[in-house]
Amino acid sequence: MIDLHTHSLFSDGELIPSELVRRFETLGYEAVAITDHGDSSNLDHLIPRIIQVAKDLNDSQSVKVIPGVELTHVSPKLIGTLVRRARSLGAKVVVIHGESIVEPVAPGTNRAGLEAGADIIAHPGLISREEVEMAAEKGIFLEISGRRGHCLTNGHVARLASEVGATLVLNSDGHAPGDFMREDFARRVVEGAGLPPGSLSNLLSNARLLLEKIGYPL
Ligand SMILES: [Zn+2]
Ligand SMILES: [Zn+2]
Repeated sequence: MIDLHTHSLFSDGELIPSELVRRFETLGYEAVAITDHGDSSNLDHLIPRIIQVAKDLNDSQSVKVIPGVELTHVSPKLIGTLVRRARSLGAKVVVIHGESIVEPVAPGTNRAGLEAGADIIAHPGLISREEVEMAAEKGIFLEISGRRGHCLTNGHVARLASEVGATLVLNSDGHAPGDFMREDFARRVVEGAGLPPGSLSNLLSNARLLLEKIGYPL
């Protein structure tokens, strides 16, 4: 299993990175990205610290840890600048907190994230067909979310991505141990989104592709 969207106590998660990763290790995960909420106030605080702990953990335990960030409620006008800033600070997975229907995310956030070449648009809500086509063209991954609330539009995202040929990944967006998905639950989330039986392995292969692309092959 692989999870490319999780939160530690560097934003609003419950666990320090070492415990977060240990919890994933006991669940048998191969890789986890730590992607705390970021905007222009905290990227320089967050990213170097996550890079440091990822390095130490990668030297000392089995789960591959990828330092990332989730640009969250950033004005669409600023998203391009902050994606570049996050990458120059060393974030390897840049997630955009997409237009979930359960939060007042600014319209245009999904599109700005696609234009900026982020890695993953998380919980993209009622994303348009045109934007899903952009994701497919640019090789940007769209998220099927295990998170309550954000998961309400998984069916819409799965259907459009399947029609258009965009690439999906499954993430927990976990903030606490109870959010981290066991394989049987992950399978049910994927099939609950309307994807055919067996699709979990496709989504995991997609996550592996992303890991290869960013230099963390499994
Ligand atoms: Zn959060
Ligand atoms: Zn998140």
